[in-house]
Amino acid sequence: MELVFATNNLNKLKEVQALIPIHIKLLSLKDIECFEDIPESEDTIEGNAKLKAEYIKTNYGFDCFADDTGLEVDTLNGAPGVYSARYAGAQRNAEDNMNKLLVDLINKENRNAQFKTVIALHLNNKLQTFTGICEGTITKTKHGENGFGYDPIFKPNNYKATFAEMELSLKNSIGHRGKAVKQLVDFLNS
Ligand code: IMP
Repeated sequence: MELVFATNNLNKLKEVQALIPIHIKLLSLKDIECFEDIPESEDTIEGNAKLKAEYIKTNYGFDCFADDTGLEVDTLNGAPGVYSARYAGAQRNAEDNMNKLLVDLINKENRNAQFKTVIALHLNNKLQTFTGICEGTITKTKHGENGFGYDPIFKPNNYKATFAEMELSLKNSIGHRGKAVKQLVDFLNS
């Protein structure tokens, strides 16, 4: 069986390929000659994941899955959420995004937040979702060099280190994306 993973991120593709059952051949967007920007115009994380999976099925005819992730901060009513990549502007710069969030949280006591990943799977004409959540807090300053995005300012609950101070294997085992991928893999294996 062939299944498209609707991402341009080759790291994500490799990570997931290593986890899914061997009878499933994972295809990239390049493999199906999709070189256009896939719309991400919904106003929820779940909506965007579904939109991307449906877009590939409708326009390219392949069964497929797509993911979308956001950081939801309690005291900001869930922001930046679906707008996490462009929180500080269209330049989609991780340093700018973190700096803006740290400023927005100055003097806030409640620094609770969660990362949420939704994977939408379009398989055999059925669309379903798998959600992974990792709860934690936003630190007051940046710590660590690993990872990407908001990793230097996100400390998962029950750990003393930020995601950017952890080995990738630990981040994957406790993190939002790893949890959503595990549910997808369990479903594909069942
Ligand atoms: P995407 O949906 O995976 O492209 O994620 C959207 C945005 O959320 C990224 O541009 C990052 O700013 C942020 N993000 C997603 N996953 C992570 C993560 O694991 N750590 C830190 N930031 C993340």
